[in-house]
Amino acid sequence: MRSKIVAGNWKMNKNLTETEALLTELAAKLPDTQAEVMVAPTYVNLASAVRTLESSVIEVIAQNMHFAESGAYTGEISADMLLSIGVDTAIIGHSERRAYFGETDEILAKKVVTALDKNIRVMFCFGEELEDRKSDNHFNVVESQLKNALFSLEASAWSKIVLAYEPVWAIGTGETASADQAQEMHAFIRKTITEAYDATIANNVSILYGGSVKPGNAGEIFGKPDVDGGLIGGAALVADDFVAIIKAI
Ligand code: PEP
Repeated sequence: MRSKIVAGNWKMNKNLTETEALLTELAAKLPDTQAEVMVAPTYVNLASAVRTLESSVIEVIAQNMHFAESGAYTGEISADMLLSIGVDTAIIGHSERRAYFGETDEILAKKVVTALDKNIRVMFCFGEELEDRKSDNHFNVVESQLKNALFSLEASAWSKIVLAYEPVWAIGTGETASADQAQEMHAFIRKTITEAYDATIANNVSILYGGSVKPGNAGEIFGKPDVDGGLIGGAALVADDFVAIIKAI
């Protein structure tokens, strides 16, 4: 049985005081849910976020991590550093990392291998650009992103992977994929994993949808059979909106 997950990616938002305030409000308002709830504050506030949420079921996760164990990588954060503050899940491959920081499939494949070696759960993001969808190339793009970064992994590695399908044209734009478009792609992703591995792995991996999910559209998107939750950007920065999205699952 795969998990339902709602995760908030805070990106480069919220200073220390704001982070603590939002986490405290979220913890107080968290509804009863079967879903795993996760938040990804910025690096500098991860350790304090872990402390603030000590007695909450909300999990603190990282927005990124480096593929090297340690060394001369100024500004970067390693798997061991995350583990040392109690963070054992990392988002890898977010479209903003790909677009603004030059993260290629090859780099992402290395990050995934390092994370899994260190027993860090990977929330792997991928998705097509608007031109890919307009030219009807979106299935090919998604298949190659998965293949390049994940399909060399051993079958056993998949128990530590969560997928987040995030069409780039829907991220932060207010434009959401329709629930049917999300379902169509999620079903395609499961079929692709079945072909590369097997149906058990495909059916056990959680596939989240991300891209302008809001309280008003979350219910319809989460209602689709192959959508196991969401990776939420903007709406995760407002406690009442994030809570409403959690309630929708
Ligand atoms: C994201 O950045 O992962 C995201 C889905 O953002 P938004 O919800 O703001 O579109």
